[in-house]
Amino acid sequence: MHELSIVQSVVTTVTEAMAERGVVRVQSVRLRVGALSGVVEGALQFGYEIATEGTIMEGSRLEVVALPVVIYCGTCSSLAELEGVQSFRCPTCGTPSGDIRQGRELEIESVEIEEAA
Ligand SMILES: [Zn+2]
Repeated sequence: MHELSIVQSVVTTVTEAMAERGVVRVQSVRLRVGALSGVVEGALQFGYEIATEGTIMEGSRLEVVALPVVIYCGTCSSLAELEGVQSFRCPTCGTPSGDIRQGRELEIESVEIEEAA
């Protein structure tokens, strides 16, 4: 499963960064996921539970921020948000565009932690 390897790398990144800071418990992780990244949120959530087991992230929440595809349309000279990933045409004028400005993201936006008492 593609998603499991993704969450495993997220868990590795977060646990290593948190260990350096002496964090004992992670409460939640916010992940930015573009529509073109090819991952399914349900599978991410499932993989996250498995991957966090036995780590300082066990029991924490995975928040997925879904980002739509945004293209740049040269005809309109503006950015346009697409409703799906099937057609890369400007929704305003219909011109096809391969100039993708958003949608491939797969990155950690933030990590919420519990400070040691
Ligand atoms: Zn346009």
